[in-house]
Amino acid sequence: MSPSFQNFPGSVRSVAVVGGGVSGLAAAYKLKSNGLRVVVFEAEGRAGGKLRSGSQEGLIWDEGANTMAESEEEVGMLFDDVALRDKQQYPLSQNKRYIVRNGIPVLIPSDPVSLIKSNFLSTKAKFRMLLEPLVSYRRTKPSKVSNEHITESVGQFFQRHFGKEVVDYLIDPFVAGTSGGDPQSLSMRHAFPEIWNLQEKFGSVIIGAIRSKLSDKRKGNEVRKTSVKKSSRHGSFSFHGGMQTLIDVLCTELGSENLKFNSKVLSLACSHDGNPSLDTWSISIASNNDNQKDALTYNSFDAVIMTAPLCNVEEMKFTKRGLPFVLDFLPKVTYLPLSVLITSFRRESVKRPLEGFGVLVPSKEQEGGFKTLGTLFSSAMFPDRAPADQILYTTFVGGSRNRDLAGASLEELKQIVLSDLHKLLGVDGEPSFIKHVYWSKAFPLYSRDYGLVLEAIERMERNLPGFYYAGNHRDGLSVGKAIASGFRAADLAISYLNSSVREDAV
Ligand code: FAD
Repeated sequence: MSPSFQNFPGSVRSVAVVGGGVSGLAAAYKLKSNGLRVVVFEAEGRAGGKLRSGSQEGLIWDEGANTMAESEEEVGMLFDDVALRDKQQYPLSQNKRYIVRNGIPVLIPSDPVSLIKSNFLSTKAKFRMLLEPLVSYRRTKPSKVSNEHITESVGQFFQRHFGKEVVDYLIDPFVAGTSGGDPQSLSMRHAFPEIWNLQEKFGSVIIGAIRSKLSDKRKGNEVRKTSVKKSSRHGSFSFHGGMQTLIDVLCTELGSENLKFNSKVLSLACSHDGNPSLDTWSISIASNNDNQKDALTYNSFDAVIMTAPLCNVEEMKFTKRGLPFVLDFLPKVTYLPLSVLITSFRRESVKRPLEGFGVLVPSKEQEGGFKTLGTLFSSAMFPDRAPADQILYTTFVGGSRNRDLAGASLEELKQIVLSDLHKLLGVDGEPSFIKHVYWSKAFPLYSRDYGLVLEAIERMERNLPGFYYAGNHRDGLSVGKAIASGFRAADLAISYLNSSVREDAV
């Protein structure tokens, strides 16, 4: 069976988006709002990928990403466009974040000046931090870029700039909590490109941060003089009903007729013959719909935006002008597994509840028996997510620190979570609710040789006309970065299609 879009009006170009996670939906939204036909193929029976919310017995929780930030301008543009502003939900006391030190949750100072004034770090570590502009100066001339420099790990970078204690008690828990990774395996250039660029430009991270803040302020003053700036709040946020609300709104905007669920893409064929206006793509999927076991082929797409994880892309078959396009140049990506445990307890079972965002556990604290990566205080952030007599927590186990534990049984994980919550917050007794979600490939690891993965993605794009790749394997792990990545791929596809329209007209 071979449905096609040949009945589309000739002038309307069509784009296939593979993957209905947030990056794919953002790309599809951008394409549709630019007047293009778009079809999203999603392997699962639902959209959202790593964004998924659940609810039961008066509880609302998130099983993947819990919050996001508006650091990328594409996020603001999307939210204004689809009227998401009134659905945003900001956590209470979000600046109250804790890191475990000597077995106790300690409030992290929320800015560098408060950090220096606080007792969170030793005097020696604070002194070492202040010396950063003198000690770490290393502005690398392009001609002198060494492999060692390019592949520097997050741990090496921060130790060189700020000393070991900062790595052990700030960077280690932060990277474990946001990417499941560890400072030794993560590439500085790929995991923290903004900070890496400060070093490249200014030598010192502190000097770079101060100078770019001053220049942002100057630019901000100029913008305010010429226009009324839209108000947008800083910090992390979710949505009423959880992160799923973002996905639901995007799906509504796209329309159910443009979303193909249970549609795992198996192969993609490009009939490129050197004439851009005649290039077309066909896509074969395995469909679970209507008990249909055969592959279905959809023809006549003018471009493809791929957002499926690379481990799934390498299973797909690509052909170009009838010949196999073999992806043997795609390096293996390492993935980090993670278990998420959502628990709720009666209020009286929690002896030392804390208000705020949550608590992170540095690797060093494993010596004190801690095994979790961290816990979000879900109902302290969002009180409407649990009945008044309950406290809701979301705890993470695994990552590169503890790969095997991520895949442990529910009973084992429950004991680990109960033990850590008991030590940190005085939680006693059994949870009144428990939900376990296992992500076998929660995050791609931006390893020290991740540059090879990015080069391979570029090679696919160079060799396959009208093919673009977006998502968290390319432009950053956060939800905001995945949205921006989807928007960028859509822009590239639009330019490509516009250029072939111009050639048609000649
Ligand atoms: P995905 O969400 O992985 O979407 C890819 C889609 O492609 C999936 O739906 C998949 O089913 C589909 N697919 C795969 N193969 C095929 C195929 N053959 N055919 C068709 N479809 C296919 N980020 C934050 O900013 N804040 C957080 O608090 C946060 N917490 C997180 C907690 C967890 C437990 C996890 C796992 C991630 C978290 N993240 C967080 C990261 C963030 O959620 C993800 O990086 C982001 O959602 C990735 O979006 P994506 O669209 O790039 O990829």
